[in-house]
Amino acid sequence: MDYVLQTQGLTKRYRRSKALDGLTMGVPKGAIYGLVGKNGAGKTTLIRLICGLQEPTSGSYSLYGVSNDRKELLQTRRRMGAVVETPSIYLNMSARENLEQQALILGLPSLRGLEELLELVGLENAGPKKAGHFSLGMRQRLGLAVALVGDPDFLVLDEPTNGLDPQGIVDMRELILKLNRERQVSFLVSSHILGELSRTATHYGIIDQGRMVKELSAEELEQSCRKRLVLQVTDTAALARTLDGLHLEYKILSESEAELFDKPNVTRLAAALAEAGCEILDLREKDENLESYFLSLVGGAQHG
Ligand code: ATP
Repeated sequence: MDYVLQTQGLTKRYRRSKALDGLTMGVPKGAIYGLVGKNGAGKTTLIRLICGLQEPTSGSYSLYGVSNDRKELLQTRRRMGAVVETPSIYLNMSARENLEQQALILGLPSLRGLEELLELVGLENAGPKKAGHFSLGMRQRLGLAVALVGDPDFLVLDEPTNGLDPQGIVDMRELILKLNRERQVSFLVSSHILGELSRTATHYGIIDQGRMVKELSAEELEQSCRKRLVLQVTDTAALARTLDGLHLEYKILSESEAELFDKPNVTRLAAALAEAGCEILDLREKDENLESYFLSLVGGAQHG
């Protein structure tokens, strides 16, 4: 698989603590990678490191296969755009002027495509209005447009929906999906809200205390959150034979417990089990949602 970003044992130590502690992860090309973690988990630190705003204490990372100890990384980083913490926009400039300024900073030979960028983020009618008078949602979208100057194919967004109203959140989500589908832009998006990320993400990295707790694809996450029946029985071997006979999908969890992914005809199942000499001790439905799955991995309150 091709990766736009890979980290290997990435560590960032401050005097008293480790903000990142041996983090290993990979953002596949074309992915919308949701980086999830409670406040203070290390998301912003990771983003600051890969943007070159800070140096790692140990470990390494590579962008498009170019390792952070190579000189070419500076050049490679031009393929990446980022909106970290507050968008880096000039409040005394209009939307268009902000884009022109960014083109100047990047030393782009022409200003072609800027109007299209404004249209893309829905700011084509913002006119001469200064960014200082924009709503938070407009500023966020302008920040994204600024990050898109120079046509990067990897965008890093730190908490892009923070502080946005419901419409702003929907707009940001649509924009991410559009860029991913129409321009094949890969994304690393950090958030402490798994529910919001789950509307766009194709991959997840769940981090806690600077470490990777779990990295998984959207399909794998969905699988983990599937509705299921948890059965407690006296004989799981007999249960397995019975479930096989009924062509039901299941997983044996322990000597006495199994989970069932299909919805069975309970009367038929109970009768078949009785016949096999297996008693049902308990039967309950487990409906894990994304938030509870996240909490089961990292524990505690989300806004820790
Ligand atoms: P949030 O969702 O609140 O932005 P985060 O996951 O982005 O959280 P980081 O900002 O990366 O977390 O912080 C990770 C840890 O590193 C925290 O405990 C934080 O206090 C600590 N930290 C971050 N920057 C510094 C710094 N410059 N000096 C000392 N400690 C820091």
